[in-house]
Amino acid sequence: MQSWRRVAALLFLALSAPVACAALPPTPLEASGYTRLSSAAEMVADLDALAAASPLARRETVGASVQQRPLATLVLSRGTADGATPRPTLLLIASQHGAAEPAGGEAMLFLARELLAGGLRDVLETFDVVLLPDANPDGRDLGHRANANGINLNTDFVMLAEPESRALVAALARYRPLAVLDVHESAVLKRRSLAREGYLTDFEAQFETANNPAVPAALLNYGRDRLLPRLVALAGAEGLAAQRYIGEITSASQPITNGGLTLRNFRNRAALDGLLAVLTETKLDPSDDQAPTWRNIQVRAQRSLVCQRAFLRALVEQRAAVSEAVAAARAALPTEPLTLGARYVLDEAHPRVSLPLRRLADRERVMIEFADHRRVAEGERVSMPGTLVLPAPSEALRAALERQGIVAERQSQPLAIPVVAVRYRREPRGEVHMTASAPRLLTTAPGALIVDLTQRRGRLAAVLLDPRSPSSLFASPPFAAALEADGEFGVYAVRKGVARAAPVEPAGP
Ligand SMILES: [Zn+2]
Repeated sequence: MQSWRRVAALLFLALSAPVACAALPPTPLEASGYTRLSSAAEMVADLDALAAASPLARRETVGASVQQRPLATLVLSRGTADGATPRPTLLLIASQHGAAEPAGGEAMLFLARELLAGGLRDVLETFDVVLLPDANPDGRDLGHRANANGINLNTDFVMLAEPESRALVAALARYRPLAVLDVHESAVLKRRSLAREGYLTDFEAQFETANNPAVPAALLNYGRDRLLPRLVALAGAEGLAAQRYIGEITSASQPITNGGLTLRNFRNRAALDGLLAVLTETKLDPSDDQAPTWRNIQVRAQRSLVCQRAFLRALVEQRAAVSEAVAAARAALPTEPLTLGARYVLDEAHPRVSLPLRRLADRERVMIEFADHRRVAEGERVSMPGTLVLPAPSEALRAALERQGIVAERQSQPLAIPVVAVRYRREPRGEVHMTASAPRLLTTAPGALIVDLTQRRGRLAAVLLDPRSPSSLFASPPFAAALEADGEFGVYAVRKGVARAAPVEPAGP
């Protein structure tokens, strides 16, 4: 039996198990007979129809795309009795990669029905669930992977230059989720790279949790050690072979890593707000394979649905432990020492790993040996400063912090503040090291910014403003020049123990 048939058969059983609900309309994908993708407008109309049909659902908007298409959410909530503690929220987003990875969003519309019809027992008893099925509506309608500005949105979470990525960060602020799921697909046939060597990749589903080293250890460890294995097992129990995420394979001779480590992706950026963040990626079948529906979209949506269900089930099962890990992480955000960088290196203890690929010629599964670079070498670990001072920030830098929801108080008075002044050097390979550090009294003119790092996004501010982090704003072109200047760096840590800066005394008569 061809593998898609086997998966389809297993998934059909899984899909038909929950309660059917006659009152809910078919999804736009069903309505089209699986002959094409749903448009952005059809997806929003579907969320509206669900909100109209069920008292448990309401439709909201968290932003708009470059071309002014709404980024719409469906909030599913049983509500709370007066005085009861509100339920924690789970946020699921899909299709950041537009028309290139559309199945997750299509699947989310099935998931909404399943939840509203009383399926997936205990999910809505335990959580409010927010679904954002179309995170890149322009990309979907234009047939792009990127947004209408040509930007890969899942690399924009440091700069937040694009309205779609800003909308996702706005969703984090609005819903304050306990956990998020970021839903993707990945093509197994990579025509321009791995296919030229005669292979395609061989996987059905992958999961990854936050792995940026600035994320508090309580979340890094919980995600990797407790949640990931359970997600893999739950997807497996529904007939989907799943594994921990392996970074994209574009050559049979490349090293193997896990998922991207920087805050440029949504998963890591979200986790730095103090929540559990998960990525899932399901198999995107080759477009020229024979399939019963348009580009096998029915099976692809079912694969993604299995992973989305696994996320909800795992969170229900582990709700007490997850709440504990998240509470511990939120408490640690302003105090836990900060690991600024990390990169994948060869695992000396386990230098080779065999992974299956498929031969393009006959689709036979073959084991290929790769160098195993899944070990993470951590960069410098520094203590969290309490307060930062930016005596002369550019308007662009101030705006970048504001986009991230970081509170920076603009000073109208000149101030005299005891600070630590530092100098940095960028090495030829791009790493940044501190070369000098000395205490001094800084005198600022009006317009200086004070950033209190005990605020909710203070840890994020500390990373974005420290050029030693590969996720800092100073790693990006508009701000990189700040580091080339040979002199004191323009971000100062206020010396510990200094409660507040003193206004500069007016000059005497
Ligand atoms: Zn993607």
